[in-house]
Amino acid sequence: MSEPSESSVRADVSGWLESNWDPDLGLNEWRNKLVDSGWGMPEWPTDWFGRDFSASLVRAVEQEFAKQGAIGVARGGIRLLAAATLLEHGSTAHKEQFLRRILTGEDNWCQLFSEPGSGSDLAGATTRADLDGDQWVVNGQKLWTTSAHHANWGLLLARTDWDAPKHEGLSYFVIDMRQPGVDVQPLAQMNGHASFNQVFFDDAVVERGHLIGEIGKGWQVAMTTLAHERRRADGLRSGYSDVGADIERVGRIYDEEQVETATVMEPYTWYPQRAGRVDLALSRALDSGRIEDPTVRQELAKLLILSSSAEWTARRARAAQQMGKPQGPEGSLGKLAASHVARAAARVHTLISGADAMLAGSDGAEDGIVAEILLSVPAVSIAGGTDEIQRNIIAERVLQMPKETRFDKGPFRDVPKNVSTRLAGENE
Ligand SMILES: Cc1cc2nc3c(=O)[nH]c(=O)nc-3n(C[C@H](O)[C@H](O)[C@H](O)COP(=O)(O)OP(=O)(O)OC[C@H]3O[C@@H](n4cnc5c(N)ncnc54)[C@H](O)[C@@H]3O)c2cc1C
Repeated sequence: MSEPSESSVRADVSGWLESNWDPDLGLNEWRNKLVDSGWGMPEWPTDWFGRDFSASLVRAVEQEFAKQGAIGVARGGIRLLAAATLLEHGSTAHKEQFLRRILTGEDNWCQLFSEPGSGSDLAGATTRADLDGDQWVVNGQKLWTTSAHHANWGLLLARTDWDAPKHEGLSYFVIDMRQPGVDVQPLAQMNGHASFNQVFFDDAVVERGHLIGEIGKGWQVAMTTLAHERRRADGLRSGYSDVGADIERVGRIYDEEQVETATVMEPYTWYPQRAGRVDLALSRALDSGRIEDPTVRQELAKLLILSSSAEWTARRARAAQQMGKPQGPEGSLGKLAASHVARAAARVHTLISGADAMLAGSDGAEDGIVAEILLSVPAVSIAGGTDEIQRNIIAERVLQMPKETRFDKGPFRDVPKNVSTRLAGENE
């Protein structure tokens, strides 16, 4: 079926907002309305709260929301990665249980993939899940788990078969984070935040129905989550729209949204800074007069060229996706490009500020934002797969270069690993 025209979509959504948007509604009541209307997540399938819209129509809808200052569905954190994974691999029961509450913001999620001994080598995970009657019993440790302290559900990758080869012995679960066998401990970061945690499982349980996909096929499900995470990573650098910036945000719903931002969304407040804040670079160079320095001008020009070309590459990838073409090299380049842009932006901000860039808090440049940029950009090169891993992927899958020599074939039980023998299942 062909898509409606942009002008008719704009007219429809603005008409709907005029009849329904009310800043004095409660946040939850409004988001439930939005979910039912299909305007909250227009890119999703029509069967599941969406309208099957392409990216350009979605953008038009978002602009109409911004013009009226209307709040959208909850998007923060990893909730949309969870949703994308459930849309692709979840059963109808999973979608019914989880999707609406993801969009209303009632549930918070975390991604339990990385472990002390398996980050890049994710398929080497040794957290185990053993079927016992009608439930899975989980033991082990995860690390770097963003927002685990706010999450009530976790996406868990765990080993269910120690005799299968590494990638074939993993299964994917949704685990209830609020149970006695789950211990969440925060970790402090160098930028002053504590977004990550280590999570210990001690006979935690997963109900049998919360297996996503098939037993032993968890790797394929995890790849869906990671593909969405990597695709999203190149969106981190996009500019901040001015549409609706002049609207006065007064009303119950804005107050409730502010509370949400200050609490469950707090772990993500530094995420714009980790992308480098390219949006601030030119105005800072102009306002400070540092634009007169040829070195600053040169680095700034390099940054803006890099950032624009990365944006165009991302748009080419989106256009190909819309036309139903298979993902080309653009998709793999996006995340690596975001790392380059973030580092180049940090360099430009430092050139503009000089030693002031090192001052954190209100004494620092841009109220400490510049110091936060410097301390946060390394995260882009690590989260969701490091730059080196992205290069390996590009080398092997895009350029078809020879694969890395592997020493991890055969039953996982026999693969050398740097964890205790009990967790590694060697005493089975
Ligand atoms: C901001 C942020 C948020 C995160 N949130 C989450 C989360 O919510 N949930 C979660 O599960 N994880 C999360 N992570 C963890 C992240 O996925 C891992 O840190 C990442 O995959 C790298 O793993 P590692 O830290 O174990 O590093 P390692 O895998 O130990 O890598 C160390 C170094 O060795 C290099 N290296 C490793 N293998 C190779 C290879 N084969 N070839 C070349 N070089 C290699 C790496 O590039 C890196 O430089 C987060 C990380 C960050 C920074």
